[in-house]
Amino acid sequence: MRQSQLLIPTLREDPADADVISHRLMLRAGLIRQLASGLYTWLPLGLRVLRRIERIIREELDRSGAQEVLMPVVQPAELWQETGRWQKMGPEMLRMQDRHLRDFCMGPTHEEVITDLFRREVRSYRQLPVNFYQIQTKFRDEVRPRFGVMRAREFTMKDGYSFHLDQASFDATYREMHACYSRILTRMDLDFRAVDADTGNIGGDNSHEFHVLAGAGEDTIVYATDGPYAANLEKAVAAPPPSRGNATQALAKVATPGMHTIEAVSQFLGVDAAQTVKTLIVQGEEGLIALVLRGDDELNEVKAGKMPGIAQPLRLADEDKIRATIGCSVGSIGPVNLPVTTFVDREAAALADFVCGANQDGYHLTGVNWGRDVTLADDNVRDLRSVREGDAAPGGQGELRFLKGIEVGHIFQLDTVYSQPMNASVLDADGRSVIAMMGCYGMGVTRLVAAIIEQNHDDMGIRWPAPVAPFDVHIVALNYNKSEAVRSAADRLHDTLTTQGLEVLLDDRDERPGVKFADADLIGIPHRFVIGDRALKDGVVEYKRRRDGFADTPSLEAAPHLLRE
Ligand code: ATP
Ligand code: MG
Repeated sequence: MRQSQLLIPTLREDPADADVISHRLMLRAGLIRQLASGLYTWLPLGLRVLRRIERIIREELDRSGAQEVLMPVVQPAELWQETGRWQKMGPEMLRMQDRHLRDFCMGPTHEEVITDLFRREVRSYRQLPVNFYQIQTKFRDEVRPRFGVMRAREFTMKDGYSFHLDQASFDATYREMHACYSRILTRMDLDFRAVDADTGNIGGDNSHEFHVLAGAGEDTIVYATDGPYAANLEKAVAAPPPSRGNATQALAKVATPGMHTIEAVSQFLGVDAAQTVKTLIVQGEEGLIALVLRGDDELNEVKAGKMPGIAQPLRLADEDKIRATIGCSVGSIGPVNLPVTTFVDREAAALADFVCGANQDGYHLTGVNWGRDVTLADDNVRDLRSVREGDAAPGGQGELRFLKGIEVGHIFQLDTVYSQPMNASVLDADGRSVIAMMGCYGMGVTRLVAAIIEQNHDDMGIRWPAPVAPFDVHIVALNYNKSEAVRSAADRLHDTLTTQGLEVLLDDRDERPGVKFADADLIGIPHRFVIGDRALKDGVVEYKRRRDGFADTPSLEAAPHLLRE
């Protein structure tokens, strides 16, 4: 293909409003252009990368026995009303009406649509398991679209859904999908980790996220230094704390005028923040709920959101309500004689002789002990904190460390969350109607392009891994339109390589060599041949591998064979 005929609008300068390297390079290399916030046009080069990624995904999914379908982007509200999600989904779902004033949405995901297809078309256990997937446009009106296609509003997802008669069948498909995702990411040369993930409000233990490791990642993933444990920070747990020591101090009330933070109180009393507890008051479904953490720990909102009776989404209670119920302001609350349901983090529950608010403005309690001064039922001791680097890993697997990751895939067990309300059932071997069990498998296709670039670039531009590069070979012809020798050598090499089944981009533009080389580095096609008059006089061309800079000067005849090796 001739570069003069393709729209590849490269930019020399970094675009102003792009915060991460992949976004900058996608704009600079002419892969995408923004239409409006979170909406992108894919230009020829970018689209070629996308198509190659899709091909790898299709090949591996087909190999795993999944079958491809294509569902509409626009979905009727009725289906979402059946599962209750029409109400539950917030402003992330874009809603609209047709000319008959019927409600529709732009699909942010397709559980309802696929479950509807299944209940209409699949009748017998003999047809199970089935595993459907599609590669299709999604729309989510993200609060903060950012990082280019990494968090867009309109994006391409591969979403898959499997249906099963029983857990064993689901487990087998889940394992296969886990392996399939690993194959897909390995084929793209990505450094990735599969980690235990939170399942939102769906529950169940079967959930893994696939993260591409990169500093620009929005997720923190946690791993154990001496074992296989790895989890998203939202879900990560540390080893339980050692058991509580004995009470040695008497309970005392001390004046702490004007001190509302853990830092101020611990400094004033001369105690470590780790010897204090903090009490957060959140809104419950009825009344208020208290969450108690060690003073130096942070609340994990995902864990907290799972406590029984907590209002969704998790939110701190209003100051007025707190004062009306507890009788003091936020900075003076503590668990002793607290008139609301209280959940205590394991680390806080392991403290003896600790400091906490006295539920009276301007006062704290010291020498507080669980059991003696405040009752604490085992059932109210929970894991509520976010783990920290250096915490002991669960199961004696060394310590916990953090990495930044870009979530490119998420697989999980849906159980009957959608099939039950939508009555998606089949007849089993005894003719009984059984609600199907479901699995769900997502992969961010457009996000993958950004993730690949995050892991494959240098100061000059992108360094595509060969399997996803927009072209295999770049022929940079110098003086193509003036030198007959260059033109015929370049055309010949282009045709030979194309016949070998390679995708070849021929830079036939009237540009200075410096411009052509800079563009070639920026675009990052894996193999480059430079054809110029000077080298041709010696009967050679210049070869350069983008990935590692390996260079050679094969003869014009030998050049095509170089890539065979
Ligand atoms: P995130 O936590 O990043 O918002 P999610 O949990 O909402 O992701 P899923 O609903 O599991 O994502 O969607 C499956 C995959 O789709 C994700 O793993 C991710 O790769 C991709 N994806 C989700 N939201 C976006 C987006 N706004 N832009 C691009 N890709 C996305
Ligand atoms: Mg999301």
